[in-house]
Order: sequence, then structure tokens, then C-alpha cells
Amino acid sequence: MELPYSEPYKIKMVESIKRSTKEQRLKWIKKANYNLFNLSSENVFVDLLTDSGTGAMSDKQWAEMMIGDESYAGSSSFLKLKKTVKKITGFKYFLPTHQGRAAENVLFSALVKEGDFVPGNSHFDTTKGHIEFRKATAVDCTIDEAFDTSIIHPFKGNVDLSKLEDVFKSHPKEKIPFVILTITCNSAGGQPVSVKNTREVSELCKQYGIPLYFDAARYAENAYFIKKREAGYENKTIKEIVKEVFSYGDGMTISAKKDGLVNMGGFIALNNKAVFKQATVFNIMYEGFITYGGMNGRDMGALAVGLDEATEFNYLESRVEQIAHLGKKLVEYGVPVLQPFGGHAIFLDANKFVPKIPREEYRAQALAIELYIVGGIRGVEIGTVLADRDPFTRKNRFPDLEMVRLAVPRRTYTNNHMDYVAACLKNIFDTREEAKSGYEITDEAPIMRHFTVKFKKI
Ligand SMILES: *Cc1c(COP(=O)(O)O)cnc(C)c1O
Repeated sequence: MELPYSEPYKIKMVESIKRSTKEQRLKWIKKANYNLFNLSSENVFVDLLTDSGTGAMSDKQWAEMMIGDESYAGSSSFLKLKKTVKKITGFKYFLPTHQGRAAENVLFSALVKEGDFVPGNSHFDTTKGHIEFRKATAVDCTIDEAFDTSIIHPFKGNVDLSKLEDVFKSHPKEKIPFVILTITCNSAGGQPVSVKNTREVSELCKQYGIPLYFDAARYAENAYFIKKREAGYENKTIKEIVKEVFSYGDGMTISAKKDGLVNMGGFIALNNKAVFKQATVFNIMYEGFITYGGMNGRDMGALAVGLDEATEFNYLESRVEQIAHLGKKLVEYGVPVLQPFGGHAIFLDANKFVPKIPREEYRAQALAIELYIVGGIRGVEIGTVLADRDPFTRKNRFPDLEMVRLAVPRRTYTNNHMDYVAACLKNIFDTREEAKSGYEITDEAPIMRHFTVKFKKI
């Protein structure tokens, strides 16, 4: 018999989580204006809101916390991180920032101007936010297969090269500061990008003289999928794959809260000295001196270890296969989910799950609320609420997909928790005919509204 995968760690410390009653949850969610971000985490049983900064650190990372060097300049923790970033990514220059969007803010301050176009595969919301905030346009060039939840494609995060070339052809070069490739593609459902596609995007960029940057939040999970799915990579180590992928680009921004295996942090790494110098100025203005950029010395030390641990096959296997465990259970129950399963999350297809709730009534949000009420499980809407209004017309944007994301924190929950989540969803699915109405917005912010939006039940 083939041996199942198993976690390459054992548990040294536990944190209690509290169960509650349905009546309590009905009260709490109403008080939170039906926005799951407003719930107190104490009132959540299994928290799948995000895998960002919610994972468990290893004993070796905690050891780094104790020996962190808090010197303002020249800290040895900084040097440790700098060395690891060079080793893992291959990029020459490095700037720490306090998280991923801060890295975007710093880099884009140097590169993005009003009226610019920034093409890529589906941009993450903060990336898009930082582009649109500068009155530039993010152009989504993801392959069409990404927008059909039932199509099985090994690399649904891939860029459609002809869409990309169309963007290159329809705007002058000076209007396209760079292309951004998000690995894995979060907004398309945590879907990977192949080495082949990365290489082709890189070649096209070179042909048109446009730099290529990575949004590398889940670069390690992306490499795991490459090893499992792309011919010619089965015998390469994760670290070799990661190095090759980054070799096709000019730089990267990263939220270390994902594949950095830390609770807070981020950085920029790149090859171009002039861009590095420009970004350095913004880093000092917005984040802090270049040897800490908003991070504690101890956090930089923990991140150095995290980058190494996250690029080990055994860790990644248990991580990605836990997501697949949840996904397979849901498929077995008939629950409509995005396939193939993502690297960090399972995405429920609300268009198929609750089609009777009108899109104008935020059906994916309605499903996320129901999951909390039934099981105390917190997911997040990735649909019309997240898509925000069009910055020019101020009309709601209706994306092709209406999803609820169940993001699994790293090294935090067991498969028993996953089974519990699957059972709750089965029960909701069995009574889905009753769901006919959703919610209306009573208050919202002009940009990135999902964090603070308030709803009323219809
Ligand atoms: C999380 C994330 C970001 C933003 O990072 P923060 O640390 O949350 O600021 C950017 N891009 C992608 C793909 C992400 O997943």
C-alpha cells in the first residue's frame, strides 16, 4: 500500500478554540453588520478568513526571536535575512518592508505613474489598489480557463500571451512600467503558473523592453505544483525550481505572511540598481531605515528561517495536500468548488451553490455568512464585494466568479478540523434550495470596501 503523506512536525504548544451555539452566532454576526471581518476572533471556531500571518512558527523560528538583533543599523538579523533572500531568490538587492502591500507601495511609488498600464495575471486586491490609487490601470491577462471553475487545467494562473502582447501593442512602452506575475495567482483561486509560461512571459517582456516583476506571496506553493505537474521538474528540488522561476524576472514584492511562514513582514528584491536606489528613498520615507523597513530584528531572523522551511518539499506536501483533503471531501459531497484545488485555499463556487440569490444581493457574501452561522467557520467573500466599484463609473463590478474562499493557515489546523468544515458545508448544501435572498450594503469605503463594508439582511 502506498504510504499517505504526513506532517513533518509534531505539536509543541496548543491554543484553545471555543465552540458556540447557533443562537450566539446569529447575534454576533448581526452585531458585526454581517461583515466577517468585524467578528471577534474569540467567536470563531475554525478561522479560514486568511492564511496571511496566521500560521504557526517552528521552534527554530522561535529560537530566532530570542536572539534577534534590534540594532537600528547593521543588525545581524537583517544580514541573516539578506543572505537568505539572495540564496533563495537569486535577486541582488533587497529591502525589508512591514508587509506585502508596503512592498507594493514602495516599489510602485518608484515605478507607477498616472495613466500607466500594469498587465499581469489576476492582480491581488492590494496590488490593484496600489495601481489604481496612482490613477493607473491593472490589465488582467490571465488565460480564459481560469474563469471556468469546472475546467481542469494544471496551471490556471498562467498568462495568455496574446492578451499580454495586445496590451504591449496598444500602449507606448513608457506607459507600461512593468508586468506583474502573481505566483500562485491568488485572485484566480491560488492557481499556479508554470515555468514554461513564466519563461514565455519573460521572453515577450524582453522583446518589448518591459521589466517583469513577481508578486511572490506564495512562490513556494507555486514551486510545489510545478514539481508535481510540469514535465521535467519532478526530480528538481523546490529550491532549484524557485531559483529558476525568479531567474526569469527583474524583481519581486512579497508578503512574508504567506510563504515566509511569519506573522508579519514583507520585502522587495530586485536586480536593477537604479530602481533599487529609487525604492530605497521611498522605503526610508514610508517603512523605516533600509536595514529594518518596519520589521523587528527578531522578525527578520524568524523570516530567514521561514523562507528556508517553506521551500522544503515535505512541509509543502503536507501543506498543499491538507487543502486537497478538504477539497476532495467537498467534491465527494457534491459541493461545487473550484478545481483543481488551490495551494492555500478551497474556493466555493457561489454561482453554482446559491444561484437563486441575485448577484445584486451579494450571493457569495450570503454563503460566507451562512457558513459562519451553521458552523462558526469564517471564510471570506471573493466576489462582487471584493471587486469594488469601478473607479471611474462608480458602478458595482460583477466578476465572472462569485466565490467564498476558505484559506487554511499554515501548520495550524488538523485534518479533523477540515472534516468538520466539510460536514458543515454538506449540511448547508443539502438545504440550499431555501436560500433565495441575500444582503444589501448600507455603508462602504471608496476603495477596498470589503474590510469595513456594512450589510443589512434582505
Ligand atoms: C497577501 C498578498 C498581498 C499583500 O500582502 P499583505 O502582507 O497582506 O500586505 C499581495 N499579493 C498577494 C498575492 C497576496 O496574497
